[in-house]
Amino acid sequence: SRKPIIVGNWKMNKNNAETKAFFEAVDAAAAGDTATYGIGAPFTDLQTAIANAKNLIVAAENCHFEDAGAFTGEVSVPMLEELGLKYCIIGHSERRQMFGDTNETVNKKAHRLIKAGITPILCIGETEAEFDAGQSEQVIRDELAGSLKDLAPEAVANMVIAYEPIWAIGTGKSASVEIAENCCKTVRDAVRDMFGDEAADKVRIQYGGSVKPNNVVEYMAQPDIDGALIGGASLKADSFIEIIEKTK
Ligand code: 13P
Repeated sequence: SRKPIIVGNWKMNKNNAETKAFFEAVDAAAAGDTATYGIGAPFTDLQTAIANAKNLIVAAENCHFEDAGAFTGEVSVPMLEELGLKYCIIGHSERRQMFGDTNETVNKKAHRLIKAGITPILCIGETEAEFDAGQSEQVIRDELAGSLKDLAPEAVANMVIAYEPIWAIGTGKSASVEIAENCCKTVRDAVRDMFGDEAADKVRIQYGGSVKPNNVVEYMAQPDIDGALIGGASLKADSFIEIIEKTK
């Protein structure tokens, strides 16, 4: 019995006033113990988000793996720890494609976050060309092997892994429920092969890619899908509240 977890990923959107207004509108809807609901927000919004969150959890969207030093523009895990942050997205495909994140650096971030007691939300997923070539399973297995390298099974058990096929992100072209379930099952099988039954049975796996109020329930009904990572539909309070109410 894995507790469902639904997280919005705001990407590079919203200022502090908008963050405060969103949390004031949405936070009460997330009350209760049946599922975890939260928002990944830009660094500049994190303090405001945390200050206005009683029920929602707050995630950063990235971190650096070093604690301090000459890394212009980066934010370290101790800096996030100081805010009381409990979750951090790592390895999002936008970071892999545009900002040079690799399985190797994502793996270092995972190690550093786990050491700090911050739960990584690790993103993986294949491109459209890889999907068309029938390589989804291989890509998933390779990304997991690299990103989860040398982690303790108990640490993996407590992580969140988001399967986000790149062709479904921001396209409105969501993966069919069958594809999403098959790939999330591949994630769980790969975790089982690498880290054993307890890690595989406990790790929470999200589907991400054009999740909306009108399709979230069917994804969540699948045996290996424990939640969703939601971009566009997490930006408007109304639609995120609808997603919360439909999945409670
Ligand atoms: P969309 O929900 O806008 O497709 O974005 C998905 C995503 O990238 C979440 O991390």
